[in-house]
Amino acid sequence: THFGFQTVNESEKEEKVHEVFRDVANNYDIMNDTMSFGIHRIWKDIFMHRLGPTKNTKLLDVAGGTGDIAFRFLRYIQNLKCEEGCHVVISDINNNMLEVGKERSKNLKLDPKLITWQEADAEKLPFEDNSFNAYTIAFGLRNVTHIDKALKEAFRVLQPGGRFMCLEFSQVNNSVMQWLYDQYSFQVIPVMGHVIAGQWSSYQYLVESIRKFPDQEKLLEMIETAGFREVTYENLTMGIVAIHSGFKL
Ligand code: SAM
Repeated sequence: THFGFQTVNESEKEEKVHEVFRDVANNYDIMNDTMSFGIHRIWKDIFMHRLGPTKNTKLLDVAGGTGDIAFRFLRYIQNLKCEEGCHVVISDINNNMLEVGKERSKNLKLDPKLITWQEADAEKLPFEDNSFNAYTIAFGLRNVTHIDKALKEAFRVLQPGGRFMCLEFSQVNNSVMQWLYDQYSFQVIPVMGHVIAGQWSSYQYLVESIRKFPDQEKLLEMIETAGFREVTYENLTMGIVAIHSGFKL
């Protein structure tokens, strides 16, 4: 490939993803800010506004990493004073990421009663059917080996009426932006990863995983195939990322 990666098979991909997030866990938050010029914060804010949680929201945040989405959820319901009956489970396959998140939540003095941390694979969630009324996955789905299995699991653990929401890199819909974006991701990101975090190949992996991920329409179809209804998407920043939403009806 462009990056000297061979086509990886499934178990190699799982291993690679595990290695990448183990290695980047400590630098993850600072790298996100540096590489996206802080824009990932705006994307995540918009994502939480679109979810618009209210009282009694039981959220499962899958591939929750160091807690960015879950912490926004808690801030959102606290600002609206609608914490009653709310709870978030932050799950991730990689415990290193969760450990960083736990430290952050202590520093932010978030109410520990409202949060549960759970190591879990998105493809095999350790939760009963119909356990949550909201499911979020942000910058996580492209790291999962079988997207269809993760989507089925999302459908299973949601209650009828529950909402699925995904924030993920997608396909840019503007040719000038596409050119700029290509230069940036191929030339700049691996170098920055190397210089700031000492991790060239992990950041090559991240760029490559974005290229391979299904585009907006294809992902919409996959979400429908898993059983969701009223599936829609919204592009942010000309499709650099997209928010997909669907309901279990
Ligand atoms: N959601 C967080 C955010 O937006 O900042 C973290 C996103 S981070 C780019 C991707 C996360 O997906 C990593 O923490 C990684 O460990 C996790 N991950 C990768 N494969 C997974 C899987 N099969 N199941 C659950 N989490 C997974």
